[in-house]
Amino acid sequence: MLADEVLVAGQWRQGRGAPIKTIDPATGQVIATVHAASLDDVEEAVTAAAHAAHDPAWRELPAHLRARLLHRIADFVERDADRLSALQTADTGKCRTETRALVLSAAGTFRYTAAALETAEDAITPSRGPYVTMSVHEPIGVVGAITPWNSPIASDAQKLAPALAAGNAVVLKPAEWTPLVALALGRLVHQALTEAALPTALLSVLPGRGSVIGDAIVRHPAVGKITFTGGTNTGRTLAHAAADKLIPVSLELGGKSPTIVFDDADLEQALAGVMYGVFSSSGQSCIAGSRLFVARSRYEEFVGELVARTEKLRVGPGTDPDTQVAPLVHHKHRDSVAAYVDLAREEGATVRCGGAAPEGDSYRDGAYYLPTVLDGLPNSARVCQEEIFGPVLVALPFDDEDDLVAQANDSVYGLACGLWTRDHAKAWRVARRIDAGTVWINTYKQFSISTPFGGLKDSGIGTEKGRDLIRGYQRQKSLYWGTGTAPLPWAAN
Ligand code: ADP
Repeated sequence: MLADEVLVAGQWRQGRGAPIKTIDPATGQVIATVHAASLDDVEEAVTAAAHAAHDPAWRELPAHLRARLLHRIADFVERDADRLSALQTADTGKCRTETRALVLSAAGTFRYTAAALETAEDAITPSRGPYVTMSVHEPIGVVGAITPWNSPIASDAQKLAPALAAGNAVVLKPAEWTPLVALALGRLVHQALTEAALPTALLSVLPGRGSVIGDAIVRHPAVGKITFTGGTNTGRTLAHAAADKLIPVSLELGGKSPTIVFDDADLEQALAGVMYGVFSSSGQSCIAGSRLFVARSRYEEFVGELVARTEKLRVGPGTDPDTQVAPLVHHKHRDSVAAYVDLAREEGATVRCGGAAPEGDSYRDGAYYLPTVLDGLPNSARVCQEEIFGPVLVALPFDDEDDLVAQANDSVYGLACGLWTRDHAKAWRVARRIDAGTVWINTYKQFSISTPFGGLKDSGIGTEKGRDLIRGYQRQKSLYWGTGTAPLPWAAN
């Protein structure tokens, strides 16, 4: 069994909070006991982070040397990719192919951010008087980063890399169910900071309860920015806390993303894309395409084939290279997904496939749930409106483009959308009419660090990724530098 310490103010030690048992959801076995951080640990970490952020060794470090630190972290992540991938599979249940890709994407995030940092420019603005005007960007100080359990290393890196690149210190709180990868990444960052003789208190990793440890980080007066990925209700709570302190907050929240199959789509491609879009990661993805809209004329043909193929998906442990649908992150989460399917039944849904945990000894102890297709419900049903965050797809027919757009946009969420059509003009038109931060056309769930990502409506505020990813972690300052020799008007008095 692994037992891990937490990282408080540059020191590895046992947290002073309650022990968190973390399980392998494929077996239900406890794989590690992590002593959570306490409120005193938060106080110590944030105070030390504020000092570290102001340490001239860090604050005055030129951008290209900060970039070197990020490359070094990426080197370590790549070197340890197999170990990190195995750890993440044990902690989250995800397939090894996916966790390996997430680890490599985390390394890529550090490298891309290093490149963005080295090439970011401040501006000399057009002068309107006898002065030179400049707009410069400076670190905020201490960033509180709060991450969810579904893709830990990728979401940790997406916050850590730009926050450090911007010149801040970071206090990171991973999710209770999956603290191990954030701690492992913390060890690598700590090693890179030590090697570069930089203040190690620039990063603390504090696992613990969100409502206690997360809340204390958010409310701490020395924390100047909150970056969060997680559920919409929690995001709203954090936004209130940030409003009280008048600090910036960026929120990547939930989704109930439509995938749309038009009557002229390449159905073979659409079938593969729709299935991958919702059932990969066992549906535990904010961008899962969990509402399927199919043109009424092709509805039965498409949904019938989709159900036939979904029934053949291979459900198994993330360690088996043949597995397509791995266990959910935790038995409690599996139960919440199952409760949603029961609710769908009460709402009058037809369960076209799945709708239960798989049977058999090999599944008995794991947090498994069969990939499920539901239909027969209106878009107003709760299972069409609420995020289930599991392998559950709800299918609906549409009549024409206006009907489709009205139904697709009838959601509090606005995170992502997929369109399957051969008609380019229609793809362009519909993509622009859908309320979503990302629209995929004839593809789905493709991600690139070089393209901004963010949600509309209840799916979030702000964006991550893209060339300007560092700016969200900086504050802007204007400088007026007098160049005239004549005194200002009042000087004569
Ligand atoms: P999910 O719905 O994906 O479980 P949550 O929004 O509950 O997501 O959790 C995402 C992260 O937010 C986790 O690290 C969790 O511990 C943290 N969290 C939950 N509640 C709060 C809170 N009140 N304040 C700060 N962080 C919180």
